[in-house]
Amino acid sequence: MNETVCPKCGGRLKLYDKVKRIVRTKGRVTKWIVIRRVRCQICGRIHRELPEDIFPYKQYEAEVVRGVLEGFITPETMGYEDYPCEMTMLQWKAQKTQLLL
Ligand SMILES: [Zn+2]
Repeated sequence: MNETVCPKCGGRLKLYDKVKRIVRTKGRVTKWIVIRRVRCQICGRIHRELPEDIFPYKQYEAEVVRGVLEGFITPETMGYEDYPCEMTMLQWKAQKTQLLL
């Protein structure tokens, strides 16, 4: 997702800064990714450019989120030692429509 115009007002976006975000993947591995933040020249809003394989504000890989939403990853699933807790899964399901947009 590389937006070049502001989703709010259509103004041009210019690179603002870069932030690091920690991402938790399956298998207890955590990694840092760099996310570029861009600023709208018109309204001044800050937007994040998110890598396509990461859902906004989710600390798990998209694959894991998708697995939960599609029902093949449950708290009992083997091989996902670092799976999200059941409450997190329920929250994802509640936000399903939003997440899969
Ligand atoms: Zn704007």
